[in-house]
Order: sequence, then structure tokens, then C-alpha cells
Amino acid sequence: MASKKIHINGIVQGVGFRPFIYSTAMKFDIKGWVRNSSAGVDIHATGDENNITDFIETIKSSPPPLAKIDTLIETTVVTDEFTDFKILPSKYIPEAFVPISPDVSICSECKNELFNPEDRRFRYPFINCTNCGPRLTIIKDTPYDRPQTTMAPFIMCDQCKVEYENPLDRRFHAQPIACPNCGPYVWLERENHKILRGDDAIQNARQLLSDGKIIAIKGLGGFHLACDATNPKAIHNLRERKKRSDKPFAVMVFDVKTASKYCTLSKSEKSLLNCKESPIVILKKKNDQVLPEAIAPGRKTIGVMLPYTPLHLLLLEKEKSFPDILVMTSGNMSEEPIVTTNESAIEELGSIADGFLLHDRAIFTRVDDSVLLENNGEKYFFRRSRGYAPNAIPLPMETKEILAVGGELKNTFCLTKNKYAFISHHIGDLKNLETYQAFSKGIQHFQNILKTKPEYIACDSHPEYLSTKFANSYSEKERIPLIKIQHHHAHMASCLVDNMWNGDGLVIGVCLDGTGYGEDGQIWGGEFLIGNYQEYERLFHLEYMPLPGGDKAISNPNRIAAAYLWKLGLEWDERIPAIHSISQEEKKIIVRQLEAKINTPNTSSMGRLFDAVASLIGLRHMITYEAQAAIELEQICNTGIDDAYDFCLEGDLIILKKIFTDIIDDLDHSVPVSTISSKFHNGVANMVLEAVTALRTLNGHHSVALSGGVWQNQYLLNKTQRLLEQAGFTIFLHKNVPTNDGGISLGQSMIANEILSK
Ligand code: ZN
Ligand code: ZN
Ligand code: FE
Repeated sequence: MASKKIHINGIVQGVGFRPFIYSTAMKFDIKGWVRNSSAGVDIHATGDENNITDFIETIKSSPPPLAKIDTLIETTVVTDEFTDFKILPSKYIPEAFVPISPDVSICSECKNELFNPEDRRFRYPFINCTNCGPRLTIIKDTPYDRPQTTMAPFIMCDQCKVEYENPLDRRFHAQPIACPNCGPYVWLERENHKILRGDDAIQNARQLLSDGKIIAIKGLGGFHLACDATNPKAIHNLRERKKRSDKPFAVMVFDVKTASKYCTLSKSEKSLLNCKESPIVILKKKNDQVLPEAIAPGRKTIGVMLPYTPLHLLLLEKEKSFPDILVMTSGNMSEEPIVTTNESAIEELGSIADGFLLHDRAIFTRVDDSVLLENNGEKYFFRRSRGYAPNAIPLPMETKEILAVGGELKNTFCLTKNKYAFISHHIGDLKNLETYQAFSKGIQHFQNILKTKPEYIACDSHPEYLSTKFANSYSEKERIPLIKIQHHHAHMASCLVDNMWNGDGLVIGVCLDGTGYGEDGQIWGGEFLIGNYQEYERLFHLEYMPLPGGDKAISNPNRIAAAYLWKLGLEWDERIPAIHSISQEEKKIIVRQLEAKINTPNTSSMGRLFDAVASLIGLRHMITYEAQAAIELEQICNTGIDDAYDFCLEGDLIILKKIFTDIIDDLDHSVPVSTISSKFHNGVANMVLEAVTALRTLNGHHSVALSGGVWQNQYLLNKTQRLLEQAGFTIFLHKNVPTNDGGISLGQSMIANEILSK
């Protein structure tokens, strides 16, 4: 006989860990106990020595699907007399923390019960278990127990209670446990009247969707607006009412098979669609697809997700007369944050939706759908949110407790502790008041649930970012030091952390981006850096071009094109589509701004160069959502073309004149715009290769980190990747966080930590 104490850390609570320990103890005839503490899980195991070894091996090798063991420490202790194995009440240690689980899409066992007429939860839209269901969206505080969630008002019925208390039941301590007798319910509301509840409400909502109506649906982390994705009129109405003219809508289909009817799917794309995080996966539309162009205008791709809650499954259920694909777009008015309460849905979405499918389980934290795509078998994030936040991201080294507040658009914040970074769900555009409030409340909430109190705070060096202003006052109020970090250094560091780079030596950072505040007060975004977590040097950048009107110019690519031509000394020829699209009046204003340098910052942004080219060739002169022109330019690329325009490197500058004269020349010779776009993309990839090769010759550095919003461009990314690989470079691409500004909070925290450790 022997005894061991075992302490386990990681995601081990709210994931069926104790029942698993209990049944494993039974299997190996182990006596003793298991207990949750706010620092993890503690086990006292007594039994045959070999059995204890097997017991621990089993814990390590086959934990429950949602569990993630970070550390397991075993210590031999004096053998105690136990007659059985018990689950003891939780022990609460105030300052200790255990990571909490993200929201998890419905598991296969719950799915089976949902559609099993014999089951007592047959067709119950809130079925869940220890392996699935809501988490982050409903947690108000830790330890993760029902009274600390938005399930608190629902009193468990006797049957649910028995399941909840039985260590061998798959709903043992499933905090959101519910059934039709005791849990939340759905209802349908039209014109301020509750008209139907339960399954009738869902069936009626389906009928309305079939009839081309728009329904607001309360989901897991917020509302969706849904309509029949095969009905152009319904989509048109939705765009009109939501005031969203071109930005793509995501769709939801019942299963992978339906997805493959509309999109081409690789094996790894199939598993991404099906994974427990259930993100929106960006897929290639089939050429013969029958979907209306209005779902994703100008795109070869479409964002697809599968039903991730029981309610979604019931809504999408297959039936001949029902559309097998629904638009499921965020429930908001254009650019506003997603609505989360029934009251605000009716108020804010009242002019959009023809009906409301509501329920009475409150959403505590607004969490948007995650968006990603597959790149060479790996995940590549556009937005890391539902299903992933607040999972810990492992860090290459121990860190101080730091709060990094991120950027301004696509904001996320990040808290570090021990060897982990906890990056928030997608917060959004801080310039929106409600989003800003969610940002400051979210920071408080995360500090609470993660039991951390930052010793330092990090922010972007842009003086006008609201996150910077927040950081200034936070630093003052809490009397903790503030570290300001250059935007592209943060991008580069984010990519390095994402690859667990250990910080030894120096790396080349190719930061191709839209907008970032530069050390010289200009707008950076086409940057070649050499550096590490502590410091960087800017070795090449796109030559400065004027941006008449500053940020306002961003929505008018034709103005950008005109300004670039002016600066490069090229004629405003009316045969150039960009020039032709600007009125004489407007031209006068632009010239005046350029000559007097009124509100005309300089920029080295690669994003703006893409915008300028898109307009130059007549593709897009004005945009209705961020990066629209650049994205449309990518969409018309033709992979069969290898020709490229030439950039020139002169000193530390990347010169643009030749690109522009060559494009204008091609326009003159009626070269198709798709060819021009391909030659431009190829030219950028070649230029990256040329610049990093020059840096390698100069300094001998072989590793290249690609970060910044422009690397969302898959054509450019793949082309560049190939070129750099052939040339023998080691390439770091983003893995767990987006390459856009959603990732910079991670880089900020790491840089701050390293600066402080110097
Ligand atoms: Zn389940
Ligand atoms: Zn019940
Ligand atoms: Fe950026």
C-alpha cells in the first residue's frame, strides 16, 4: 500500500474532471479523495503502488476532452486509512486562480439526446453537460459555481439535482445544467407580443424564415440576425435595414455535408468546421454555387459555421421545405456592438427584424463568433473570440503581471500571469461608446475571474487611441508604471510570442499593416524591423506618401491614389479611372490640401498602397467597410500569372514610382485588371524577399516574422511564404492570435515584460 498527494493545474474545473478522477479511482481500486481548489485540483490517492502509477498515467494520458493539464505534481505521503473514494467540497483560496473554460459547442452525446424522443430533454434548446455548453458568456465571478453564473435564478428540479450530484453522471457539477422543467425557455415575440413558446416558437420562426422574413435570434454570446441565405430579396432587405451595403454576411448550415454543397472543403477545413470551438471558417465558394452574390459581394470566399448550440440545431434542422443555409450575421446596426439583452434587441433591432426568438438565460459577457481560415493545415485567425477566449496562451518565459490594453480597432486586451497570457474576447472598435464601456468593464471582469492585479500596464504609443487614454488614467489611479509601445514592434512581438520564440538573438519583422503610430509621429505600416522583445530598429519602409484629410482619406481610395500620383510627380490623366472618379471640385480641394499640407500626414502604410492601386485601376473608389478595396484587389488575383512589378530599394526606402508608372502603362495597353492585380501582389512578395535578403546579407538573420493586417491577404501570404522558404528563411506566422490589431495586446505585454526585466 502507498499514498500520494497529487496537485493538478490547468483547465480542470467545469470540464468533468472530478467525475473522471472518481471513475478512474474506482477502476484502479484507489481510496481517498479529490477536491477542487481555487488553485486547481487536489487528489489524495491510497492503494496498491502499481495501481497508483496506472491511475496517474491514465489521468495524464486520457483526461476529459475539454480538460487541459498544465502541471501535475505528485508527492509521496504517509499512507492514510480510507475506506472509499470521495469528492470533497471545493476549497477556496482567494488569491489563487484556475483558468476558466471558453464556451463550448454542443457535444455529440447532448446532440443525440436532443433528437431522441425518449430523452427527457428531447428538443430542449438549453441541453448541456460537463463537456459542452456556455461558460465565459455566463460567468460573473469565480470559483465557477452556479450561483456565480447567469443560471443562478433557475432552481434545479429534483431530477436535474440528482444528475448534478452524482459523480458518475455526465452532468455531475455541470453548472448550467437545465431541463424543460426547471431551466430557461425560448419564446417568439412579434410586435411586442410574446406569441409562442418552446418548440412552437422555433417552428414558427422557421416558417417566417422560409417566408423570407428576418429573425433576431438570441444566441450564446449575443444576437444574430438570420434570414434565408438562398433568398436574394431577404438578403437585400437585411442589408438595407442593417445599413450594411457590402460587408460579407456569415452563414450557418446544419452540417459539413451541407457546407460542402456550397463550398469546396479540405479535410482540415472539415475538422475546423466541426471542432468544439465552432468558429466561422472562411471557405472557397463552389464555382457552380447557387448562393446569391449579395451574401458576400466581390468575394470568392464565404464565412461558414455549424450550429453550435442546441437552439441553433433545432432552428437549422433538415427538412425539405426549409432552407438548408441561413445568413447568421451579428445582431447589430452597422458597426455597433452586438446586442446581448432582450430589451436592447427589441429596441435596437426593432427596425431590422420581423420577429424575435428570445430566451431568459442572460448573457453576462458579449462574445462574438470567432473567424478563421485554414492555411497549410494550420488555423489562421481573423478574430479570436467565442470558443477560444479566455483560454491561456502559453508564453516562452515567466512574466510579471501586466495589463496590455491593445489598439483601437479590433481591440482585445491581455493579462499576463506566470507563464500565460489571457487575451480577451474580441472587443471591437473603441471609438464606439458602448464598446469602450465593454472594454473597461471587461478588463475589470477578467482581473476578477483570473485573480490578477496588474503591476504594470502597457499600451500603444498612439496618443489619441482611447486605449492609450484609458491606460494613462489607469496608471495614475492604480499608481502602476505605464509602458508605451510602438504599434509595429507590438505586431512583431505578438507574432514571435505566438511562435514561442525564446528571445535569443534578433529577428526580422515584416510588418505590413494599415495604420500604426510611428516614432516620428507619421503613420507607419510598411515596415521592415530587426529586433527582439525589447527593442527594434527600422531598416526599410515604404517611402512616405501624403494622406490628404488624414484618417478620413481611408474611406476614399481614389483620393489616396490621386495624392500618391501627385507626390510621385505623375500626371492626373483623366484616362486613369481613379482620377476620372474625382470631381473637378474635389480635385481642387485635394490639391489645396496637398500643397498647403493641411491635415495631410505622411504614411508608409502598405494597406494604403493597396487601396491606391485598387482605385487606380478602377476597382474600388470608395469603401463601406475596413480594407474593402484591398480585399477586392486580392479577390481578382489570378494565380496563373507570375509577372511582377518592380519596387526599388534605395537606402532605407522602398520606392513606389516605378510601380505606378508600370500600372498606368498597363492600363494604357488595356491589360486586364486581374493581371495588374496579380503583378502587383507578386511585386510586393518579391520586394519582401529582396528586402529581407538584403537584411540577411547585412546582419545574418535568418528568421522572419510576418505580422500586420495586410498578411490577412492569403494570396500575398502564400506567395511570400513560398519565396522565403525557397530562399532558406525560417518563417514565423501567427498561430493563436490574429495578424491584425486583435493580436497586438499579446505583443505589448511581452515587450513590457522584457523592458522591465532588463
Ligand atoms: Zn454535452
Ligand atoms: Zn431540471
Ligand atoms: Fe496594426
